[in-house]
Amino acid sequence: MQLRHLIFILGDQLWLGNPALADFDPAQDRVVMIEALGESSQVAWSHKARTALFLSAMRHFSAQLQAQGYPVTYLNLGDDPATPDLLARLDAVVAQLAPQSVHACEPGEYRLQQGLLARGVHLHADTHFICPLADFDRWAAGYKSSLRMEFFYRQMRAKHGILMANAKDPEGGQWNYDADNRSAYPKTGPGTIAPPASFAPDAMTRAVFADVQALLPNNPGSLDSFGWAVTREQALAALNTFVQQRLVKFGDYQDAMWTRTPWGWHSIISTSLNLHLLDPREVIAAAETAYRAGQATLASAEGFIRQILGWREFIRGVYWRDMPTMASANHYQHARDLPAWFWTGKTHMACMKDAIDQTLEHGYAHHIQRLMVTGQFALLAQIAPQQVEHWYLSVYVDAVEWAELPNVAGMALHADGGRFTSKPYIASGQYIKRQSNYCGSCRYKPDVRTGPQACPVSALYWRHLDDHAASLSANPRTALMAKSIERLSLDERAAIRAHSDAVLANLDGL
Ligand code: FAD
Ligand code: SF4
Repeated sequence: MQLRHLIFILGDQLWLGNPALADFDPAQDRVVMIEALGESSQVAWSHKARTALFLSAMRHFSAQLQAQGYPVTYLNLGDDPATPDLLARLDAVVAQLAPQSVHACEPGEYRLQQGLLARGVHLHADTHFICPLADFDRWAAGYKSSLRMEFFYRQMRAKHGILMANAKDPEGGQWNYDADNRSAYPKTGPGTIAPPASFAPDAMTRAVFADVQALLPNNPGSLDSFGWAVTREQALAALNTFVQQRLVKFGDYQDAMWTRTPWGWHSIISTSLNLHLLDPREVIAAAETAYRAGQATLASAEGFIRQILGWREFIRGVYWRDMPTMASANHYQHARDLPAWFWTGKTHMACMKDAIDQTLEHGYAHHIQRLMVTGQFALLAQIAPQQVEHWYLSVYVDAVEWAELPNVAGMALHADGGRFTSKPYIASGQYIKRQSNYCGSCRYKPDVRTGPQACPVSALYWRHLDDHAASLSANPRTALMAKSIERLSLDERAAIRAHSDAVLANLDGL
C-alpha cells in the first residue's frame, strides 16, 4: 500500500500537539526525523552543547513516538556523512518511501521554509505560539512607523486575560514594572541563589555526546557541564524549580551581572520553549498562579510574563515580517571582523571574558550579557552584523534563527535601523560597572576614555556618539546622549577619536 502522509518533524518541533500530526493514522502514515551534520557545521558552526541538546531531545522524542505506536524513520548524524544537507536527506527519504504527500509544521527559519515550500511540502501553522502570524501582521499593519513591543504586549494581555484585574485594566493598575526590574546585586555579591534544575545525561544523551565528539570534534564549546532538559518531563521539572525557587527574585535581578554567576535568577527555560518541550501558555499560567498564590511579587511575575507573552511572541512576528531583508541589514555599514577572542574568551576585558567564558562552558548567557556586553561591544566595535549573527547562532544552546536574528540584528546591533526599537541599546562602561562587579577586576577603567587604561567600551561609546551625533540628537530618546558629546571640548573629542581609532585597529589585542 502506498504511504499516505510522510510527516517531517524538525528538531525544534518536539511536541505531541505538533499540528502536522493532527490527522495521523499509523496504518497509512509515517514520521521522519533527520539529524544532519550540515546543520551543525555549514549552516551554524554550533556549540557542541547546542548540537547535543537538539539531537538528544530528538532521539528522546522519537523513542516516545515509537512507544506510542507511531512508525518513525530516524536518520542519525553518522548515517551517510556524504549527504550532510538536511533537505537533501529528506529528498532521499521521500524518494525511497514515495508518500502521496509530505507534511510539516512550519519551520522557525526562512531558509528551511523556502526549501520545504519549493518541494511542495504542506506546511501547517505552528500552534505552539500564542499569536498566529496572521494576527501579528494584522496588528503590525496598524502602525506606520516602527513597531513597539509594549503595545503588542498590552493587547496580548487583554486579549488572553493574562494578569488582568478586569477585561480592560492590568493587574495592579500598571502594565509594566520594568523600572523595578533593573537592580544590581548588593556590593557584597549575589549571595545564595537556588540553582536551576540540571539533569544528568542518560545513556541516550551520552551516545549523542559520543557522536558529537566523533563527528564534530572541532566545534566550539564544551559538553562537560551539560545538564539541559531533553524531555518534556525534565522541561516541566525545570519550569517547576524556577517557579518555586527562583521566580521570587527574577524581577529584581533580571539585569544584574556578577563574575562566575552564569544563571543569576533567570528561568533557563528558553531551550525547552524553543524545542517546544514546554508550551508558552503553561509557562505563563505557572507564573501567574505563583503570583496569585502570594509566592511571587507582581513585578517578578509581570517581568517574566512580559518576556514570554511580549518579547518572545513579538520577536517571532517581526522575524517573519522582515525576512529575508533582516538577514542582510547593515544600517551603519559596519564591516570589521569579529575579534578571534569571541571564540576563546582570551581578552583582558573582564566583562567580555566572563560573558564569553560562560557561553563556551554552558552555551548560555542571560539577556543583559547578550545585549549590553557582547552585543553592544559588537555594535560599538563596528563589526559586520552577519559575522555577529553567525556567532550568536553558533554559541547559544537556545539559538534558533527566528529568535536569534531579530535580537541580534534589531536589538543589539541596530542593523535594521530601528524597525522595532526606539533607540540603539548603547551605554558606556559606567553602565556595566553599575550592573556588575566586572570592572573591579579589569585591567581597564570604565570612567577613562583615552590612554592605556581607557575602557574600550567607554572609548568606543564616545566615539559612536561623535560619529552619530546628528541622528542621535534627532531622536528624543537619545538627544541627551548627543548633548553629552557636544559638551566636550574639541580637543577632548579629537583625543577620543585618536584613541578609538587605535582601539578599532587593534580589536584582536584588547
Ligand atoms: P529569562 O530571562 O528567564 O526569560 C524568560 C523567557 O523569555 C526566555 O526563556 C525566552 O523564551 C523569553 N525571552 C526573553 N527575552 C526574549 C527576547 N528578547 N526574545 C525572545 N524571547 C525572549 N533567545 C532565544 O530564545 N534564542 C536566541 O537565539 C536568542 N538570542 C539572543 C541574542 C541577543 C543578542 C539577545 C540580546 C537576546 C537573545 N535572546 C535569544 C533572548 C534572551 O536573551 C534569551 O531568550 C534568554 O536569555 C534565555 O534565557 P532564560 O531562559 O533564562 O530567559
Ligand atoms: Fe568591561 Fe570596561 Fe568594565 Fe573592563 S572596565 S569590565 S572593559 S566595562
